[in-house]
Amino acid sequence: MTTKEGERLSPEELFEFRAGRCPDCGCVEVRPGPRGGLSQNIYCAALVCGSRFNEMGPFGVERISDKSPGVKREHWGQA
Ligand SMILES: [Zn+2]
Repeated sequence: MTTKEGERLSPEELFEFRAGRCPDCGCVEVRPGPRGGLSQNIYCAALVCGSRFNEMGPFGVERISDKSPGVKREHWGQA
């Protein structure tokens, strides 16, 4: 499901994200994925989560996946 795709993180979520934690599950298993232009994809490596984000530097952070945990196991080849 990608119903939240393109949604900006809330200030609280952004705080967690900048602190190196996944705003959805709170774990610190956030890893960099593919980079393209100004954006850097970041994914949560927690098995129960797997949320993905698009880090755009000064432009903020958007969701690539939605918030629901455990439904997206299509990591970029690094489970
Ligand atoms: Zn997570």
